[in-house]
Amino acid sequence: MIMLYSVVYSRLGGSYHMEKEGLKRCLDHLESNDLAVEYIVTDRHPQIQKFLRERNLEQFYDVWHFEKGLSKKLLKVSQNKDCKVLKKWLCSIKNHVYWSATSTTSGPEKVARWTSVVNHLQNIHVHDDPLFPKCSHPERASSHANKWLKLGSITLAKVERILNNKRVLKDVRKLSHHYQTSSLESSHSLILRFAPRTQSLFGGMRVLLYVGELMRLVFEEVFEDPAPFVEEMNTISIPKDLSTQFDRPSKEEVVTPPAMSPVSVKGRSEANLLSSRIRKLLAYPADNT
Ligand SMILES: [Zn+2]
Repeated sequence: MIMLYSVVYSRLGGSYHMEKEGLKRCLDHLESNDLAVEYIVTDRHPQIQKFLRERNLEQFYDVWHFEKGLSKKLLKVSQNKDCKVLKKWLCSIKNHVYWSATSTTSGPEKVARWTSVVNHLQNIHVHDDPLFPKCSHPERASSHANKWLKLGSITLAKVERILNNKRVLKDVRKLSHHYQTSSLESSHSLILRFAPRTQSLFGGMRVLLYVGELMRLVFEEVFEDPAPFVEEMNTISIPKDLSTQFDRPSKEEVVTPPAMSPVSVKGRSEANLLSSRIRKLLAYPADNT
């Protein structure tokens, strides 16, 4: 990560405005330092698309964001009682999204590979598009004839409408074949564990600085030369597990109810006896009841 901007949500009136503003500030900063941006990978929000188009920057779309929306629509269709056959294909179609995006750098070839799936679902593996005339998988006869989608079926019509939709084809052309935003998403989710979005900016910033410093320490110093840190770590005393501090009591002793005795037994009050039993119960291993 080379840059991080924290933008105040409430001042800008919505998360998309905030994202656009953060993006603008980052790009301005890079450009003012003479760093040229070759292309950028983002989700497909129209406002960001418009902004990057106006700024003359090539944009690619993150595959996971695209696949998530598409899989949701397909899952909904597969829940229809007439379209159950689609259920078996959901995972393959999802894999096909990633494969179409990353197996070529050319936009038209991504589309050709993508559209071939509608044929493949019907057990047709040669295609009209010269950019992808034949499926890449080995030829083999399937023993499950019922798994294919039938020509003229409701399922095929619905699936085709989703997969070959004009907007989908436009987006497939621009799916990122190289970098994805998943590493950035992971970094955000790590930071959110320490600094929830609802916390004040300064509280959040303090935590960000702390996490940043911690990461720097781990990656730049501990990884480089772990020896001095191992020595220091060994000086830290580790407390024993609570249950190991007690002798293992017998099960009978633990489950036997206290005798209905006078106020004290051998000099110990009932309260003392009870607390001693509670301590023994707490120490008794949970898997041995
Ligand atoms: Zn095929």
